[in-house]
Amino acid sequence: MNQRDDYSRREFLAFGGAAAVLRSPFHHLPWWRPKEVAIAGARFQIVRSKLKHKPSRRRYLLIHGDEQTAREVLLQHMRTHSGVAFVAEGTTRTVPIASGQIDPNRMFSRRGAEISLKSLNPNWTAEQVGAALDLLDGERERFLDAILPSGRDLMVALHNNTEYSFADEEPVSDRSARNQPGDLHAFFLCTDLADYQALAASPYNAVLQARMRTPDDGSLSRRAAARRLRYVNLEVKEGDAARQREMLDWVEAHLPE
Ligand SMILES: [Zn+2]
Repeated sequence: MNQRDDYSRREFLAFGGAAAVLRSPFHHLPWWRPKEVAIAGARFQIVRSKLKHKPSRRRYLLIHGDEQTAREVLLQHMRTHSGVAFVAEGTTRTVPIASGQIDPNRMFSRRGAEISLKSLNPNWTAEQVGAALDLLDGERERFLDAILPSGRDLMVALHNNTEYSFADEEPVSDRSARNQPGDLHAFFLCTDLADYQALAASPYNAVLQARMRTPDDGSLSRRAAARRLRYVNLEVKEGDAARQREMLDWVEAHLPE
């Protein structure tokens, strides 16, 4: 039994047969709604929030399990806002794949995944890398179809950083607005021009990355841009929950659903 099957079986048992993965044998039943979506060893709990007075088609994502501030802010947000959130189940930054690890925000292109796999699993053979890349190729589109919004709906991904900042993205972006030079760790990265125009007029730092200026690093924002979807990364320094909450509230109030 491979690791995936083992996971699936355990989840199946844990949820008393109500199913937890997209490949569940129950997926054809009308009442069945997945509680989880996975790619390789990256597993995301699906949190659905429906407030009667304020329905929303917004989607949210916590992709890095170790970003504790973003996790807290997002889960708190879902108690008072409608939408669907995909929340990393583990608490580590990397996720298991075969006998190794990968950065989950580098899985979305073969090139990005290869760089991440080679750097995180230096002892792997070329065959092991190739097998992991083939596994991702086989699961990627199904996963993206499950989590990415459709049409003009918005997805907001919450991240935390320690070193990384607006200064890293500014030179490789289509446009940038350095609105808050005193806190470059807090910024928006978006893929849609209209969203950028709104965010650039906010009190916060913002960059637009709609065109591909650098090689595809396998991040989800690149895939969203390639699909011409509305996607916003909301970055703040780890621990700065107040700032992340404030910026998320700004998005809710100012960006169209
Ligand atoms: Zn992150």
